[in-house]
Amino acid sequence: MCGSARVRRMIGEEKEKYGWKKKLRRIIKREEDGENRWIPSDIRIVRSRRKTISIQIDEDLQLTVRAPLRMPDSAVRKFIEERTDWIEKNMRKMMERQEALKAEPEDILTAEELRGLAKEAAEYIPERVAVYASLIGVSCGRITIRNQRTRWGSCSSAGNLNFNCLLMLTPPEIIDYVVVHELCHRLEMNHSPYFWAEVERVLPDYRKRRKWLRDNGEKIMRRISSPL
Ligand SMILES: [Zn+2]
Repeated sequence: MCGSARVRRMIGEEKEKYGWKKKLRRIIKREEDGENRWIPSDIRIVRSRRKTISIQIDEDLQLTVRAPLRMPDSAVRKFIEERTDWIEKNMRKMMERQEALKAEPEDILTAEELRGLAKEAAEYIPERVAVYASLIGVSCGRITIRNQRTRWGSCSSAGNLNFNCLLMLTPPEIIDYVVVHELCHRLEMNHSPYFWAEVERVLPDYRKRRKWLRDNGEKIMRRISSPL
């Protein structure tokens, strides 16, 4: 059997063993030290004036390696090859995450359900804004309820606040966190240490709440059907 046919056949076998790999489009197989390794063939290498080398897998399963300008190609390749276990493990993790985040058709909210959430939010959120605005000692302008897949809240420089109606699908302490976050932007428009210190003063456990939103928020956002 010639080499490439053999490799192709082996890739086929491996694909059956590891279902998740079916989804990786281009994969090359290496045999070194008698060990079989998998590396995606479309690795993006970004060189810049950094001092260290790093590796990262994006949401779309793109593997990116960031390397210093002068590091030789062979050293970059060696770095990648030494991390094949890490790459496999994390590719699989990322794919499982993508799988878990996929909204089932029955999870997609209807227009009527969204209207219902917006109505609830329009009653509930301004109350929470009033509570925390006086606690923080800031004023605010108009409060608008939106439905969107990208953000939970925002604050304009004029002090107008927007909140996502999907917040009504999160626990009350999460709604309070987003309210406090946006109100603290009345003090500081950025996310500086001073900003976070203010958030922490009002909600000492804000990190836990922010983490909840990071872990669960995306799945809730995906309940709004994506625009075609
Ligand atoms: Zn912010």
